Amino acid sequence: MAFYEYQCDRDGAFDITRPIGTAPESVACPLCRGDARRVFSKPMLSSSAPRALVAAIEHAEKSRHEPEIVTSLPRPAHASARRCSP
Ligand SMILES: [Zn+2]
Repeated sequence: MAFYEYQCDRDGAFDITRPIGTAPESVACPLCRGDARRVFSKPMLSSSAPRALVAAIEHAEKSRHEPEIVTSLPRPAHASARRCSP
């Protein structure tokens, strides 16, 4: 879980707790029920979650949506060197 910060125009900032990567763009303000927009200043992470672990999880979630496609297999260095030789 992670804390996400939202800003209500009337009532100011507040935090909500959501599973990492599921925070919506806006939520209903708990005080006035109006729209509160997400604040992207810095992640408000749960103190129990190591920052590096959370970063790794968020990277994994991003990779799931934007896969880093490997287009070619890595070739051993000696193979390409031999190919360039006369
Ligand atoms: Zn409000």
